[in-house]
Amino acid sequence: MPQIFTTEYKGPALEKPIKVTVNTGLFIDGKFVDPIEKGTIDVIDPTNGKKIVDVAAGTAKDIDVAVEAAQRAFKTVWGTKTPGVERGRLMNKLADLMEQNIHEISAIEAVDGGKLFIHALTVDVQQAISNMRYFAGWADKLQGKTIETDDSKFAYTRHEPIGVCGCIVPWNFPIMITSWKLGPALATGNTIILKPSELTPLSALKFAELASQAGFPPGVINVVPGYGSTAGQAISEHPLIRKVSFTGSTLTGRKIMEAAAKTNMKRVTLELGGKNPNIVFDDADLAQAVKWSTLGIFHHNGQMCAAGSRIFVQEGIYDKFMHAFTEASRTLQPGSTFDASPTVQGPIISQTQFDRVMNYIASGKSDGAKVHTGGDRIGKQGFFVQPTIFTEAKPDMKIVREEIFGPVAVVVKFKTEEDVIAMANDTSYGLASNVFTTNLARATRISNALEAGSVYVNMASVPDFRVPFGGYKQSGQGKEMGEYALEAYTQQVQRKQLPGRPRRRRPDGVGVALDEETVDEDTTEDDTVEDDTDDIIDDDVIVAEEGVDDVAEDDRDGVMEDDVEEMMDDDFVDVADDGFADVEEECLEDVEEEDVTECRTDEEEDDEPALLDSIVDEDDATELEEAGSEDVEALE
Ligand code: NDP
Repeated sequence: MPQIFTTEYKGPALEKPIKVTVNTGLFIDGKFVDPIEKGTIDVIDPTNGKKIVDVAAGTAKDIDVAVEAAQRAFKTVWGTKTPGVERGRLMNKLADLMEQNIHEISAIEAVDGGKLFIHALTVDVQQAISNMRYFAGWADKLQGKTIETDDSKFAYTRHEPIGVCGCIVPWNFPIMITSWKLGPALATGNTIILKPSELTPLSALKFAELASQAGFPPGVINVVPGYGSTAGQAISEHPLIRKVSFTGSTLTGRKIMEAAAKTNMKRVTLELGGKNPNIVFDDADLAQAVKWSTLGIFHHNGQMCAAGSRIFVQEGIYDKFMHAFTEASRTLQPGSTFDASPTVQGPIISQTQFDRVMNYIASGKSDGAKVHTGGDRIGKQGFFVQPTIFTEAKPDMKIVREEIFGPVAVVVKFKTEEDVIAMANDTSYGLASNVFTTNLARATRISNALEAGSVYVNMASVPDFRVPFGGYKQSGQGKEMGEYALEAYTQQVQRKQLPGRPRRRRPDGVGVALDEETVDEDTTEDDTVEDDTDDIIDDDVIVAEEGVDDVAEDDRDGVMEDDVEEMMDDDFVDVADDGFADVEEECLEDVEEEDVTECRTDEEEDDEPALLDSIVDEDDATELEEAGSEDVEALE
């Protein structure tokens, strides 16, 4: 049986101690279980490098079991089997439970990820809750289009779920990025295999526990912590996983695309790195530019894909900006996760990442850039790095070209708009950009010239659940958040239809068009209804075949019974589609769709709206009910 980790946290930011409990197993098919190969992951507190707890490490074998459960759930209790309104209800319930446990989740996120509790509380977890609610609202609003291809045909599109989706989440914003992926994936009816980073698996396990409490059917959400090279790779290669949504490094994104291409061509959404320009013009509001430029690179130690790590400052404001920006960076001091001050700077996530950041700083120094401030580690315990600003860097230096993912900014002076646009776009990345100016025309001009998925004016990147987020160039593919994210988790299909018209039997047995003028005086309303339903056939081709109308009476009755049942099960659209009738006898030998269309006269087509109306007439529905139908509502 998996262990339950329990602890309590205290600190100035907390009104009272927070108790935390996390099940440390794998969450598969609605239960916490041990991993088949019994592996574990050491979860480390980056403020001191000490182990917090062990959690289960899933491998390819556990991924197989999880996929089986997810596939089963997709086919039986989720996907198109559960109405959107119910999916939305469960998602809202989960959001409510997250809100009720917001302090506990924030504490987990802070300790596991080395971030300030107050940041986790007010940004990460709050965003995750809002995101779940936003997508819960979409769950019953997934609509396709009706496309008329000519007067007698139309197609309609449906937005169908894809199936089992693998969601691979990084360590910098674990719960928030989980919600970016699971929000749209669940709303659209997909089932999930979620693999959190080995560095921050705890909030995903808490999320699984709350999802179970919310009442998600077993198998809809599976959480399998594990190592990237085993569990992550198994997700990318799995033949029954239809889509992978990944956030992390460009290197791993490339591996995931390759694995998808070599296996089942699964769909891939990638949210990768960035080397984002942050441009300050002479006419900027200085205080605003300094505040956001500081947050843009030093929030969460610069461990953000959208970090504004290349800061371009126009020559007229350069000195003032540098003075204020340097001061702001120096107010950031290391401290405890549960400190109340928002200027406390946390640690880098792990020893590996710490070494990586320090190596970049060393390369900047050895390549000849000038350390304006910072440039060293802080203390000997944990993974703290000074907020660092480089100047006098050359465009080809590693610190200018590569994503450092640490609190390291490179500041470059520029003269003109043209110069700065060229420098800003001179990167293989294209995730985000920040522009500071009080000139609206310039803001628009520069925004449109920047090769970036997002441009922020007079602010830095703050993700908003309503707004799509995703990169240009090697920063990724596809969008997260906002309505656009729904596309990433659905496949749009088209279904073409040949709409027809109902017919009624003529005394001589030949089906004729049914309209006010042609209704026989002797025909009672009852007859009409009966005839309408009689003639509603399930499929265009079958309709044409049946339209021969010399079908024996007995056979016709048999057809009618089946067809009415079909009709009751399906939407009005099906009813309208299937009523084609009155095909000229000589045309009926060949039941090709095109031929049948050609056989229809203009006059018949003119009759169609009236005829279709007649099918959904309320009286008709009543008649059908009296005739024993169980599902008349489908007609109404
Ligand atoms: P990775 O890209 O390796 O990790 C991100 C996620 O991918 C983790 O869950 C990881 O698992 C998983 N993963 C790793 N290898 C594979 C694989 N072969 N197949 C499938 N999944 C895999 O990032 P790192 O943690 O190594 O960080 C390195 C750099 O990546 C950072 O310095 C930064 O530049 C960038 N990065 C960008 C992020 C962003 O928000 N765009 C987020 C995180 C990192 P596991 O943790 O177990 O290795």
